Amino acid sequence: MTVRKVVRYGTPSLREKSKEVHKISKKIQIIIDDLYDTLYATNGVGLAAPQIGENYRIFVVDVGMDKKTMNPITFINPKIIKKEGAVSSFEGCLSFPEAYTNVRRYKYVKIKALDEKGRSFILEAGEGSLLARCIQHEYDHLDGILFIDHCRNRFDANKALAEKGLNGIDEKYLLDEKELEEEILKNPPPEEEKKID
Ligand code: ZN
Repeated sequence: MTVRKVVRYGTPSLREKSKEVHKISKKIQIIIDDLYDTLYATNGVGLAAPQIGENYRIFVVDVGMDKKTMNPITFINPKIIKKEGAVSSFEGCLSFPEAYTNVRRYKYVKIKALDEKGRSFILEAGEGSLLARCIQHEYDHLDGILFIDHCRNRFDANKALAEKGLNGIDEKYLLDEKELEEEILKNPPPEEEKKID
């Protein structure tokens, strides 16, 4: 049980595709324990194995609002099998300390994975919930995709990164999400309407 150092943006391994887990070995169990220890120590809501320097397809989430009601969920070899809708989400990442920007996400996801005992499960998260957004964010880490690749405005994203002394966005990783953007613009989230006032 160890609180691990979270890998910072700029480290090449954050851009690597992580390996499948073939057996829930002692090593994998330790990675999972360390992910939770590090998640709770940093007050995060989700953490992926590559963020602690272990390029395996594992992430953990706990979106419990206070940590007295813990709701840890472990995802091993996850596959998003359905996604729908679109939302704009103000996000950060433990690998980008204190930098936040608006990103595009699906509103609903259905995901299949193995739990820490190797049992298969399916979970649905919708309505643009924190869980739905967190699953997409952590899932991306396993493919070397970072939240800034989904940014809605590259200038705002670069400004937020520069303010925290982080490297700017790398244009070659920006995702083409025209359809998501169009759908977000059709149904602007309430926070955005407030900002216009
Ligand atoms: Zn992250």
